[in-house]
Amino acid sequence: MAYKIWLSTPHMGGEEMKYINSAFEENWVAPLGPNVNGFEKDLENFLGDDSFVAALSSGTAALHLSLILAGVEAGDEVICQSMTFSASVNPVTYLGAKPVFVDSEKDSWNISPELLEEAVKDRISKGKKPKAIVAVHLYGMPFDFDSIKEISKRYEIPIVEDAAEALGSEYKGRKCGTLGDFSVLSFNGNKIITTSGGGALRVGTEELKKKAVFLATQARDDAPYYQHSEIGYNYRMSNITAGIGRGQMEVLNDRIIARRNNFEYYRQNLSDVAGIKFPTENQDSFSNRWLSCILTESQEKREEIRLKLLKSEIESRPLWKPMHLQPVFKNYQGYISGVSEDLFNRGLCLPSGSNLSRENLDCVIEKIKC
Ligand SMILES: *Cc1c(COP(=O)(O)O)cnc(C)c1O
Repeated sequence: MAYKIWLSTPHMGGEEMKYINSAFEENWVAPLGPNVNGFEKDLENFLGDDSFVAALSSGTAALHLSLILAGVEAGDEVICQSMTFSASVNPVTYLGAKPVFVDSEKDSWNISPELLEEAVKDRISKGKKPKAIVAVHLYGMPFDFDSIKEISKRYEIPIVEDAAEALGSEYKGRKCGTLGDFSVLSFNGNKIITTSGGGALRVGTEELKKKAVFLATQARDDAPYYQHSEIGYNYRMSNITAGIGRGQMEVLNDRIIARRNNFEYYRQNLSDVAGIKFPTENQDSFSNRWLSCILTESQEKREEIRLKLLKSEIESRPLWKPMHLQPVFKNYQGYISGVSEDLFNRGLCLPSGSNLSRENLDCVIEKIKC
């Protein structure tokens, strides 16, 4: 259905067509070219901290390649934050590996360090040491990186940092998207900046980036003819979509400010509504507030608000349904406390686009209050 006010829509900056036109003028209409290289440079400069970035066709592709580079193979187990979008987990199954779900902590809504350690110990005791930990900065809120990193170090299990929702967020002043052994970004149409569809893998060495690009371009050996010693993928970003990305990078900081302002405005105007709570940053975390989310007092209350908004053609959405509750993943192991299920029952994402007007926000607030 078409809404009057959407959850999160693309918001062009104005310079995107300049980069697309130059691709056409130079006939770089291919999954490589100056825009791909330029977009990667822009991301590396933004992320800092010795970042090496490979621009890819999607965040899901970046997750898939991360798991391959982490050495995940058929039959292996991979720990996954249960509270997330399915794309965080699907690539585990592409490899014939098994996700092991870990529930969330109450504060950040992200993977619980206590449950993570319990899960790692238990899997090891069963002779199945996990090959990777997929942790997610949900809605832009950083996960408890120091605690997760400590466990990752102690048991020598790499972190795949799913920062698809968290470009511009920070943990202790460090950019999300630079914290994991492998870090994943997404530029899908609903994200804080978009290339229509696209993603990126950030790693800490040039060598790893080269390997990612090699795998993303059909794993061609260095030979004058097409020779392959490994299975490859067609995962490189198009030079056209990378042009959109270069234009979007020029306005990324404005987009972060606008999303954070949306959240603040909702918080100021809805805090006095009984039973509505807002997720808060702690002293370590800075959220890009990709989506403005609220917690209501009950599932009934949440549905009441959602349906009221729907009647006025305003899009809102319950929080991600945890993976351990998904029909497609029902046969996998989980270390579950009930926190994510409760968040799913009571939480709602409100319209959050950086292109929403003050009138749009007032309209949402008014409907919730009435
Ligand atoms: C959007 C998203 C992805 C997937 O990114 P795509 O570019 O759509 O493939 C992965 N994880 C999370 C948490 C996301 O929100």
